[in-house]
Amino acid sequence: MRVALLAGGLGGSRFARALSETLEPGDVTVVGNVGDDLEVSGLHVSPDLDTILYTLAGLLDEEKGWGRAEETWNALETASQLGAETWFQLGDRDLGLHLVRTEGLRHGEPLSSVTARLARALGVEATILPATDERLRTWVETPAGELPFQEWFVRRQHRDEVDGVRFEGAEEARAAPGVLAAIEAADLIAIAPSNPFVSIGPILAVTEIRRALERRRAPAVAVSPLIGGRTVRGPADRMLARLAGGTGPAQVTQCYKGLIDALVVDEADADEDAGGITTVVTRTLMSDAAARRRLAEAVLGVPV
Ligand code: GDP
Ligand code: CA
Repeated sequence: MRVALLAGGLGGSRFARALSETLEPGDVTVVGNVGDDLEVSGLHVSPDLDTILYTLAGLLDEEKGWGRAEETWNALETASQLGAETWFQLGDRDLGLHLVRTEGLRHGEPLSSVTARLARALGVEATILPATDERLRTWVETPAGELPFQEWFVRRQHRDEVDGVRFEGAEEARAAPGVLAAIEAADLIAIAPSNPFVSIGPILAVTEIRRALERRRAPAVAVSPLIGGRTVRGPADRMLARLAGGTGPAQVTQCYKGLIDALVVDEADADEDAGGITTVVTRTLMSDAAARRRLAEAVLGVPV
C-alpha cells in the first residue's frame, strides 16, 4: 500500500514515522512544508524537512521536538560572542547538515535533490520531498504587523495572535519532481496532524498540489492535531479559534474542505461536530511505538 503524506514538522514527522514503521518505508512518500525555510548566517535551513529527516533517521532530539539528539552548541556560542544574532538556534551537528545543503543549493542543485541525498546518507528509506523546489515563504499577519514566519514563531515565540497567513511565491511555484506522481500513484493520501494553517497550508497553496488533491482517485484522510480541543504543542488551537471560529474537528475539516474524505479524531473529541465528514475515533497521541502503530493502522483502515 503506497501512501503520500503531507506533513509539517513535529506532528508531521511523528506521523511519518508511524507510517514508515507500519508499512514498507519505501512505500511512504512524505511531502514536506518549506514555508518555514530561512537563511541563518548564510545557511539555508529547512526546519520541517530537517525534523522529518532526523525523526526518520532516529536522530531527533525528541524532548525538544527539533534538532538533533546529543547536540552541542559551540558554534552558536562563538557566533554569539562575536556579535551574531542567535535567536534561531542551530547546534553543531545540525550545522553540518546545513553546510551540505547550502553548498548543494549554491551549486544549483534543487532542494529536492539535496534532500534525497541527505536522506540516503542518513539511511532513511522513505521518500522525503519538499512541496516545491522554488522559493515559498510563509508570512503571518499579526496586530504587530506582517512578520516572516520564523520571526513570529521562534523569535517572538508565536505570542502574537494571527489574523491571516500569506504564502509568498506559492501560486507560481511548481510542485517538486515526484510530488504529483506520488499523489497520483498513492493508494491513500494522508494529511498529518500538523498545523493546518502554517504547516499544511503552504503545501496546499502550491496550485499543482491542490489540483492533484482535488482530482484525487485515492481516498484522502487527515489526522486532527487536536486532543480535547487543544494542540499537543504549538499555536494551531489558537489559530483555529481565531481564524476558523472554534477548536474542534469541524474547524479542522473546514481547513481541508474538498480535499479529504475522512478525519481521524482523538477519543477526547469523539462527541464534537466534525463538519459532516466520516470520522474514525482513536487515541491519537503518538507517545510510543505502540501508539504510533495504532494511529497509523486507524488511518490505513479508514472505511472510505
Ligand atoms: P511544526 O512544523 O514543528 O510546528 O509541526 P507540525 O505542524 O507538523 O505539528 C504541530 C502539531 O502537531 C500541533 O498542532 C500538535 O497538536 C500536533 N501533534 C504533535 N504531536 C502529536 C500527536 O502525537 N498526536 C496528535 N494528534 N497531534 C500531535
Ligand atoms: Ca514548521
